[in-house]
Amino acid sequence: MVPLGDFLAGCHLLIETRRDQAGGYLLNQAAIRYKLPLIYAWLGEADGSLATFWPGQGPCLACAFPEALPASATALMGPLPGILGALGALEALRVLGGFPAALLGRRLTFQGKVFTFKDAPLPANPFCPVCQHLYQDQAARA
Ligand SMILES: [Zn+2]
Repeated sequence: MVPLGDFLAGCHLLIETRRDQAGGYLLNQAAIRYKLPLIYAWLGEADGSLATFWPGQGPCLACAFPEALPASATALMGPLPGILGALGALEALRVLGGFPAALLGRRLTFQGKVFTFKDAPLPANPFCPVCQHLYQDQAARA
């Protein structure tokens, strides 16, 4: 098995779109360890959401979902993965291009039934058991 550090060498960001809760939290830990942005997408039956987690600059995945990641539904509207994939690719290009992450600390949801986007904040949790050390390090330096 390849050590995680070797696997992530040269990576500038992580993108997760699978339905694997354990994998999501594992990538979150890698994002924290290597201070990488994690673009995370998940789907419901008729909607899909996207957020960017960037430990040290905003919330981590566990700040937003400390107990369970949002579950993807089995019945999807066919175009939803494409919509979320295109938005996630745009966010990735923004981050790689040096622009601020548009979805840092935000959850953007496309609601397929009403054909509307909804935006909700995802604040960092200073008491997050997974990433709080990053905020303690920042406070110690201030
Ligand atoms: Zn956190």
